[in-house]
Amino acid sequence: MNAICWFRTDLRVHDNPALAEAMAYGPTLAVFVISPVQWQAHREAPVKVDFWLRNLAALQQALDALNVPLKIIHSDDWQDVPEKLAALCKAHAVTAVHANAEWGINERRRDIATVERLDDEGVSWTVHHGSSLLIPGSVVTGKGEAYKVFTPYARACRERLQSAPPRTVPLPHKQAKAPTSSDAIPKSVPGYHAPDRALHSMWPAGEDAALARVEAFANDAIAHYKTERDVPAVDGTSRISPYLAAGVISPGQCLRTALAANHGELDSGKQGITTWITELLWREFYQHLMAANPSLSMHAPMKPATGGIPWRDDPDAFDAWTAGRTGFPIIDAGMRQLMEMGWMHNRLRMLVAMLLSKNLLIDWRKGEAWFMANLIDGDLASNNGGWQWSASTGADAVPYFRIFNPETQSRNIDPQGRYIRKWVPELADLNDRDIHAPSAQQRRDAGYPEAIVDLKATRKRALEVFKALG
Ligand SMILES: Cc1cc2nc3c(=O)[nH]c(=O)nc-3n(C[C@H](O)[C@H](O)[C@H](O)COP(=O)(O)OP(=O)(O)OC[C@H]3O[C@@H](n4cnc5c(N)ncnc54)[C@H](O)[C@@H]3O)c2cc1C
Repeated sequence: MNAICWFRTDLRVHDNPALAEAMAYGPTLAVFVISPVQWQAHREAPVKVDFWLRNLAALQQALDALNVPLKIIHSDDWQDVPEKLAALCKAHAVTAVHANAEWGINERRRDIATVERLDDEGVSWTVHHGSSLLIPGSVVTGKGEAYKVFTPYARACRERLQSAPPRTVPLPHKQAKAPTSSDAIPKSVPGYHAPDRALHSMWPAGEDAALARVEAFANDAIAHYKTERDVPAVDGTSRISPYLAAGVISPGQCLRTALAANHGELDSGKQGITTWITELLWREFYQHLMAANPSLSMHAPMKPATGGIPWRDDPDAFDAWTAGRTGFPIIDAGMRQLMEMGWMHNRLRMLVAMLLSKNLLIDWRKGEAWFMANLIDGDLASNNGGWQWSASTGADAVPYFRIFNPETQSRNIDPQGRYIRKWVPELADLNDRDIHAPSAQQRRDAGYPEAIVDLKATRKRALEVFKALG
């Protein structure tokens, strides 16, 4: 063998620059590192690890068709990865390793240590960019600085995408049969229990499933996306995030599918489509921020002054929030959706994050960690970005005084209480008016808790705390 393609969060053969370049270099071996201890340290969710393993099995089949064997390196954490990868290179006479970039600080440290070790062996290392439309760090202000505000960043991205849209990386040709075979893919790993099997049909694995999902969305629901994306009872968004996070589909494939449904128009044409493309750019923005600010993966707020917020230590309130027992029906519906699906509607992510960080004044990093430990689409950059946006600690965050009121929001986004009825079934019999804020008697009858905080008083407290930061 000549080359290794090291798969990480890019579990696909299509539109994968690392795989294409490795195979262009010579006969290629694919590698994936299973590192349960590291994953636990990163709080990767069981539902996500299961999704990775299922997609790895699908990737193995796709690689089989290209005659590329997939080897598994078992390394509890990333400490031993450089040595184990170097040993694999030696065993198979590999002289080049290709991989797609990852931006977390531990990922970067792992890669630097690997490059140094491979260098000792005379093995070259090439990094590619397969998980963003544009290379993070390549879109800068007129002064050559990293953008901190989304709107001008997105404008600059659109200009770049208009003049130089990302081209599809062709699927490599099948190589000659390799002298080595693939390793077995485990169905589970130590420390991770298998999630409910119902999730397997909710989130089927493989590139075909991912592409079919985006195509179905682009041919139908995307038309109403601008209006329906904020209605959680409607299946109005693509639900492609787990596939993007694991790299089972590339952002380029998503963009091109959307453009194909819009006569190639990026900025005009169908509003649902242009709005959806803007959401892809939010994902891009958070990757760009993570790449420019390594401290983000070390839990630092983008606005340093917010490091001085006297966050409250309130384990009971935090437990009620995680369990979907806050007594705010829309919030509890969101938290229960997360626990059951491993996914939560974007509007709800904002609402629950704001209740935690503003009304409860609990450190947003606790919420960020809880999301990561339970999301199938947990993504370091987007999760951090979403939390810092909601907590008003982020680069381009919601102003601290714009605190969403869950009850008002509930009446606006779920007027008939359909979403609440689905996820908080004990309230299902209440009428459309009461379901958003049941009376004390209705709560007692349903076995549903009282609200854990007074919204008005806690809003005032949050405003005072943020105002005091100056
Ligand atoms: C507190 C909080 C935490 C979040 N954590 C994550 C996370 O861990 N992983 C994750 O992928 N997204 C996260 N998001 C962003 C967003 O909620 C999800 O991407 C979206 O709900 C996924 O559903 P979808 O695929 O149907 O999205 P669609 O509406 O169909 O959007 C298409 C794609 O665009 C991207 N996107 C959409 N909205 C955003 C956004 N606000 N920020 C960044 N990218 C976006 C996603 O990749 C998404 O799959 C978070 C948002 C908040 C407020």
